[in-house]
Amino acid sequence: MGKDFICFLGTGGARFVVFRQLRSSAGIWCRFNGLNICIDPGPGTLARCFAGEETLSPEDLDAVILSHRHLDHSADANVMAEAMTRGTFHRRGALFAPGDALNGPEPVVFRYLRQSVERVEVLRPGGRYRLEGISFTTPVRHLHGVETYGLYFSLPAGRVAFIMDSLFFPQLASHYARAEVLILNVVLFKHPGHHKIKHLDLEAAEQILAAVRPRKAFITHFGTTMLDRDPPALAARLASRTGVEVAAAEDGMRVELEGLLGPC
Ligand SMILES: [Zn+2]
Ligand SMILES: [Zn+2]
Repeated sequence: MGKDFICFLGTGGARFVVFRQLRSSAGIWCRFNGLNICIDPGPGTLARCFAGEETLSPEDLDAVILSHRHLDHSADANVMAEAMTRGTFHRRGALFAPGDALNGPEPVVFRYLRQSVERVEVLRPGGRYRLEGISFTTPVRHLHGVETYGLYFSLPAGRVAFIMDSLFFPQLASHYARAEVLILNVVLFKHPGHHKIKHLDLEAAEQILAAVRPRKAFITHFGTTMLDRDPPALAARLASRTGVEVAAAEDGMRVELEGLLGPC
């Protein structure tokens, strides 16, 4: 079964980074309490599962979770979900996604393969979802162009939260309070100020980190303005301003959770 980890298959976000593959747009693979969970399988996720030193087998997935329907979070959802069901021959696994990703006029997961998934659950504000030995919540609907949620996992060893795409709002951090490991999607270096662009910037990340004060944070899902300025340097800046240990995720980076969760 191996130890629990988070593997950032891809760390690129937003249109131009994705179209030019300046960073991979693959999602995040987590092994939590021995369960294999794929979060936000953007374009290239399937290929990246086989690109690392240790292959991650999509046929061993226990769950696929979409935070929202945008292409950079869902393009490989079908292939990952179908692999999870071993080509639809085995009714197994769980699929979680917002209602507009599943039931809207233009669902991003094909209906035929959903019948082979053992459990399909619609994410909702304040929802709690159980998988074997772990649970996660979607505490609040984010401010984004489509229905979007962050994920807050309660694991036997501790708490891991993912703050997905969102425009910053003052109560955002409070919904992820007490997370020990925090992953933040920081697309922008500096928000342009108009609300059409619904993403976090570095200043918003600083406010969230100062409020949540996790034991360890990772910034990821970088747009071009972040990549232009060297994410590790920006992570170091966040760390020095907040006193929180912050790292910039890299494509293929695997973080072992042992030591990051539970008693000091
Ligand atoms: Zn995104
Ligand atoms: Zn988005």
